[in-house]
Amino acid sequence: MTTATQPLLSVRDMTKVYPARRRGSAPVRAVDGISFDVAPGETLGLVGESGCGKSTTGRTIVRLLEPSSGSIAYDGHDISHLSQRELKPLRREIQMVFQDPHSSLNPRQTVARIISDPLLVQGSSAADARRRAAELMELVGLIPEQIDRFPHEFSGGQAQRIGIARALATGPRLVIADEPVSALDVSVQAQIVNLMERLQQELGLAYLFIAHDLSVVKRVCDRVAVMYLGRIVEIGAKERVYTAPAHPYTRALLSAVPLPDPAAERARERITLLGDPPSPAAPPPGCTFHPRCPKAQDKCRSEAPVLRIAAPGEARQVACHFPEAA
Ligand code: SF4
Repeated sequence: MTTATQPLLSVRDMTKVYPARRRGSAPVRAVDGISFDVAPGETLGLVGESGCGKSTTGRTIVRLLEPSSGSIAYDGHDISHLSQRELKPLRREIQMVFQDPHSSLNPRQTVARIISDPLLVQGSSAADARRRAAELMELVGLIPEQIDRFPHEFSGGQAQRIGIARALATGPRLVIADEPVSALDVSVQAQIVNLMERLQQELGLAYLFIAHDLSVVKRVCDRVAVMYLGRIVEIGAKERVYTAPAHPYTRALLSAVPLPDPAAERARERITLLGDPPSPAAPPPGCTFHPRCPKAQDKCRSEAPVLRIAAPGEARQVACHFPEAA
């Protein structure tokens, strides 16, 4: 049973390593020993550049991918080694929303079938599943009378609402949302974010919200974890991370987020990162961020920083030998 202090999701030292593809090449450590919790009803944002391992993290948690090591606990129970059959009851509780709504929906199935499927798998009758699908369409702002239409008859935003309805069909407590708005127009993004916020309040959902857009994450999350090359480099309360980022990578990402006030936008300092992220198959020694870090010193090139409390009295953690004063 979950207590007020027990996390709903607890990930510890999780890795996802892909074996070397060719002789002589190295394994790819897509996720390299990450740990975090998600509390009931909370939204944790997981941010970072493309290829940093954030989507792999989400897919590994829902066991679309098998973790290489570490543990994943849901509601206090280790689920990292459960068979797919043993995972079946848990599929009700943990659901996923994907980036591209149209490609994540079967074009040959009606909306009724798409939303009903998880319920049928869990043993609902066809009539009950269809009735529930219509209710879910209404819940996510779709017209239930359109239940027998096909995905291509809906816009991108509407298709994402179908994806959300499908995710909610089994009454989950945790939703892993993998870039849920990044394929949508900006105006539609706000509608989907509003919808997800409303659903969270009404249904008490917890979200792991994966995104590269820090503006969107700022809007929706309670805490934020910043990933770089498979590792979490900073994690803490949104207010602290956004107003006083301690890791140079977080500072650089935030310095690229446009500000609504043109004067503030002109006045602020932009931090330009050098080059692209290195390959996770050949990470640099020491701090893996050092080739791009404007603050790198000798120690950074030989010694990997561990995640530790950023400043006395706060829960935020940062992996940097020389963090910004918090
Ligand atoms: Fe930069 Fe060094 Fe901190 Fe790494 S440990 S982020 S290279 S200052």
